[in-house]
Amino acid sequence: MTQILHIVGGGMAGSEAAWQAAEMGVQVVIHEMRPKVETFAHKTGHLGEMVCSNSFRSDDSEQNAVGLLHWEMRAANGLIMATADAHRLPAGGALAVDRDPFAETVTAKLTAHPNVSVSYEEITTLPTEGNWIFATGPLTSGTLGQAIQAETGAEALAFFDAIAPIIYAESIDMSQAWMQSRYDKGETEEERTAYLNCPMDKAQYEAFIDALLAADKTEFHDGETAGYFDGCLPIEVMAERGRETLRFGPMKPVGLTNAHHPDTKPYAVVQLRRDNALGTLFNIVGFQTKMKYGAQTDVLRMIPGLENASFARLGGIHRNTFLNSPTLLDAQMRLKSKPHIRFAGQITGVEGYVESAAMGLLAGRMAACEILGRDCPVVPQDSAMGALVHHITGGAEAKTFQPMNVNFGLFRPVDGLKGGRRGRKDRYKAYTDRAKSVWTDWLGEIGP
Ligand SMILES: Cc1cc2nc3c(=O)[nH]c(=O)nc-3n(C[C@H](O)[C@H](O)[C@H](O)COP(=O)(O)OP(=O)(O)OC[C@H]3O[C@@H](n4cnc5c(N)ncnc54)[C@H](O)[C@@H]3O)c2cc1C
Repeated sequence: MTQILHIVGGGMAGSEAAWQAAEMGVQVVIHEMRPKVETFAHKTGHLGEMVCSNSFRSDDSEQNAVGLLHWEMRAANGLIMATADAHRLPAGGALAVDRDPFAETVTAKLTAHPNVSVSYEEITTLPTEGNWIFATGPLTSGTLGQAIQAETGAEALAFFDAIAPIIYAESIDMSQAWMQSRYDKGETEEERTAYLNCPMDKAQYEAFIDALLAADKTEFHDGETAGYFDGCLPIEVMAERGRETLRFGPMKPVGLTNAHHPDTKPYAVVQLRRDNALGTLFNIVGFQTKMKYGAQTDVLRMIPGLENASFARLGGIHRNTFLNSPTLLDAQMRLKSKPHIRFAGQITGVEGYVESAAMGLLAGRMAACEILGRDCPVVPQDSAMGALVHHITGGAEAKTFQPMNVNFGLFRPVDGLKGGRRGRKDRYKAYTDRAKSVWTDWLGEIGP
């Protein structure tokens, strides 16, 4: 009997997953709730609709991690990239897309494919059998969200992200910052030095609060509720509640001794915590924010030690349904408790159109291999695809897991190359050369 692959959600990830599996010869049914059931952000009933900006970001595959992801998806005959290329708009080094013809073409290509059919319906439960990919995105319908939560546990499915900015470790000035856990707590030296601390004196703190209060902020979209307030207040909201609130919250200076100036008690301390097992990324603890991106970099670079910070991702708070993938999914993106179900796209804890489509591409190929009885070789960790899927399915810290976009901080170092800002160009070229080579090999192994 022919085995069917059911894909729930025909957005960026679901559309790409369907295309990949169909091209490998698998029969696919896409279950898409729009236009019958709407979300606050989608405007049409098309597959592959871009909900907000029309940009796929940088198209530079030598010096930029998202450009590299474009390259890898093109090499894999990706529908989303081919359609984006066909409807490209002038945008310098970025890949901007004419959104309506883009979504119309994605819909037309999928509906015309002999192996694909589309069923316009909302799926509200997790099926007990069959082959399934759930790619229902950041705005997964409420009933399905509850069904997923019943399976995973309430803690493992979030309905808002509260993203603190993430910084490349190499860009932090360690002549000002030092490693120490509050009160030196911990059994091991690693635990006792788990946090990176940036000290402020009174004048620096006051100037920081002024800048925070004055910074441009983004508003919630229509239909987004502000139900995020419990436990993850944006730093600017804390500052609005009182100039000292941050000093008694995430910036409290207690239990810490400045390793560079042990006799000077800091007035406030910003703490950063390791964000990945490689130790290449650090997040600023408790610094979720709705500041606009430009304002955010300006304000955060006022923190001593972060004057030259490079940001792997900036902070934000959004309506966003996502799983604690490091604990729930295996390396093949299967739900460990129900391995006939895969997840793909933004719901797995990646962030962005390109990353979501990329995870759809992988899930579609993995599911197709399983149905066809073929081996699916492990996705090479040194490709952009592999770095991302490895991060969400195990490389990231599960306790503090928040959505991630692709960036070079997720890549394993290339031996023998200079660290720091000066060696960056050569390093990025080495990462992207290595990635292209291993990705090409993987595509060769998995076959057409
Ligand atoms: C408001 C908003 C703005 C964003 N702006 C940007 C941006 O500018 N740039 C960027 O790169 N990323 C942006 N994102 C993030 C994200 O990358 C995109 O949302 C991206 O479309 C995610 O792809 P996806 O396939 O995972 O989900 P989606 O593209 O949202 O696709 C999910 C699909 O599943 C369907 N669905 C949901 N529940 C069910 C169900 N129960 N049954 C059947 N179908 C269902 C939905 O209708 C939808 O078509 C934004 C997200 C949001 C919420």
